[in-house]
Amino acid sequence: MKAHDGMYIGGEWRPAAGPDTIAVVNPADEQVIGHVPAGTAEDVDAAVRAARAAFPGWAATPPAERAGRIAALRDVLAARKDEIAGTVTAELGSPLPLSQAVHAGVPVLVAGSYAELAASYAFEEKLGNSTVLLEPVGVVGAITPWNYPLHQIVAKVAPALAAGCTVVLKPAEDTPLTAQLFAEAVHEAGLPAGVFNLVTGTGAVAGQALAEHEGVDLVSFTGSTAVGRRIGATAGAAVKRVALELGGKSANVILPGADLAKAVNVGVANVMSNSGQTCSAWTRMLVDAERYEEAVALAATAVAKYVPGERIGPVVNAEQQARVRGYIEKGVEEGARLVAGGPEAPREQGYYVSPTVFADVTPDMTIAQEEIFGPVLSILRYEDVDDALRIANGTVYGLAGAVWGADDEEAVAFARRMDTGQVDINGGRFNPLAPFGGYKQSGVGRELGPHGLSEYLQTKSLQF
Ligand code: NAD
Repeated sequence: MKAHDGMYIGGEWRPAAGPDTIAVVNPADEQVIGHVPAGTAEDVDAAVRAARAAFPGWAATPPAERAGRIAALRDVLAARKDEIAGTVTAELGSPLPLSQAVHAGVPVLVAGSYAELAASYAFEEKLGNSTVLLEPVGVVGAITPWNYPLHQIVAKVAPALAAGCTVVLKPAEDTPLTAQLFAEAVHEAGLPAGVFNLVTGTGAVAGQALAEHEGVDLVSFTGSTAVGRRIGATAGAAVKRVALELGGKSANVILPGADLAKAVNVGVANVMSNSGQTCSAWTRMLVDAERYEEAVALAATAVAKYVPGERIGPVVNAEQQARVRGYIEKGVEEGARLVAGGPEAPREQGYYVSPTVFADVTPDMTIAQEEIFGPVLSILRYEDVDDALRIANGTVYGLAGAVWGADDEEAVAFARRMDTGQVDINGGRFNPLAPFGGYKQSGVGRELGPHGLSEYLQTKSLQF
């Protein structure tokens, strides 16, 4: 695998300030596929300075011109799709078809949506005798996780650029090669030097230095709730803008009149996709008592198709594998009924976890409350619709969810009562313009579409 041994700062690859490196491992075979530099506070400082220097020029660039650069970036990402998919598969372990369709495909859609929004967004509006200007916040520190390596980057960088902000990115240590490819794409798209900068490194060193840097005006973080809480506190102390996209424990609510087979099959696919490493995954399936056993049997049949190493990849690293297996053991210990999978690793090599389904899960169990971030589905029983709502809303999270009903009207009526940021109704399609983000401890702020763009703007009003 191609790996740069420097940082992308000020429009060029520069040597890292320190000698340390991070090994990148393919989780499917545990082989080291490359090394990237482990950035220090010095690298972060150089990147923030470059972003600050580039900010006035980029902020003053007419939106139509910014749109043109983002469109060029989209075109480069589209042209290099196969290379991107191969890199994501190598460092995340996801099956190639998933990497092609989702990991490489979705960022092209999202970048395209921001090329259009940059050109059409109303950066100025009239309100009585005021003219309201929506201006870029400044330098953005973007910190991203490994689960959707390129999507997480594009979901922050594209709207920031559309708004007129400049960016320093600190990607996850497990998937830095995809981030380096993205920096190459930015370069190829002809973005001005310093508008986008990349510092690879650990969260504790490079991530923390970026979150704390006084030259950063907004920190946009996606990752665990534990780290998000810390970043929020740091930003609060500095009175700095912050956007947090955190964990989830989303409910897939199957109402009594719904098409059960469809709801269960789509629900299982949703959880198993990307080896369960999706923050918005519907990891709790809620079924009425009457059709409960039928749903459990359907889920067991559906999950059997996810053969490790074929249709489903490994989880990202050994630590994550141990963590997920620990949750499976906990589920058994607390009395849930294992209907598929279990804690044993299904393959000798690679960080694989058996696709697992638990029945008889009660709302108080650990596996019904905590985010597992692996291929584990919990099926819960509800007595009536109000009970289903209590269970659906009964976690600290509120990121996503699904409702299946006899018709859309019934499902929408239920979804209106859910404490969560996004709900798919009867299998509603993915929409790259729909705001994505959490209620409760799932986060602060929204990504994607015009709502995602507005995160990177601040408001000034002129009265005359
Ligand atoms: P993580 O919080 O460990 O790491 C995320 C990023 O933060 C990485 O780049 C990491 O290096 C950095 N980081 C770690 N410690 C830091 C610190 N002290 N200061 C600054 N940066 C630091 O999360 P992860 O394990 O990489 O990702 C999985 C988590 O991400 C899950 O909880 C998942 O739900 C969440 N997630 C949320 C969304 C969303 O949109 N809501 C999307 C994807 C993942």
